[in-house]
Amino acid sequence: MLVDTHCHLHLLEPAPDEVVAEALAEGVGHLVDVGVDLPSSRLAVANAARLPQVSATAGIHPHDADTFDAAALEELCRLLADPRVVGVGETGLDYHYDNSPRDAQRAAFAAHVGLARELDKVLVVHCREAFPDVLAILDGEGAPPQVVFHCFAGDERAAARVVEAGWYVSFAGVVTFRNAPEVRAACAAVPLDQLLLETDSPFLSPHPYRGRPNRPGRVAVTARTVAELHGVPVEQVAEATTASAARAFALSLGGRG
Ligand SMILES: [Zn+2]
Ligand SMILES: [Zn+2]
Repeated sequence: MLVDTHCHLHLLEPAPDEVVAEALAEGVGHLVDVGVDLPSSRLAVANAARLPQVSATAGIHPHDADTFDAAALEELCRLLADPRVVGVGETGLDYHYDNSPRDAQRAAFAAHVGLARELDKVLVVHCREAFPDVLAILDGEGAPPQVVFHCFAGDERAAARVVEAGWYVSFAGVVTFRNAPEVRAACAAVPLDQLLLETDSPFLSPHPYRGRPNRPGRVAVTARTVAELHGVPVEQVAEATTASAARAFALSLGGRG
């Protein structure tokens, strides 16, 4: 069994029930539905309440960091009180798109770090061209025990820094792209007990589905690439990354069907 540790059900065209059924048929037994703003976080909580194969996160994406105010923080705290909300995020810094001013991104990220630590929930980090600032804020605020660098796009050295801190490196379909040698090298170097699989669907379809909307079931394609890069059977990747996901997100996979 595999876990898709990062998907956005509210952005997928088929209904969540259909997406989950398709994922199950591909051997993907659990999905983490990731919120990017308050409406999508609310929907993720509702999906997790209805579907035993779904857990939720709640957070405000760095793209929307300029919407993060006292009222947003209050609602976020309310959503995070639900035990089906296993993580805080996605949050982080995106200096590639700079959709929100950088000081707003840093302030919102720092607040999410504090929430994750206080609530003892995993922090789901989106980091694009901002690795030094992300590390500085994690250090400055005091990182929660579990941190996931989602859709990792850094090199081997950056991955080593995350592994050294005891955090998790999550790989999406990008590792299946032949023209991403740095990310593939980073993936090969991350130990499987700190490696997570995700689709970030509907984004980042793995090869050969590139350019088409992604689905949680396609995490199986990424698992096969990780197995190739690590030179181990895919069953070993499935077992190790599912255990990593259960640890990182505190999922009780057996008990939830
Ligand atoms: Zn992201
Ligand atoms: Zn995402």
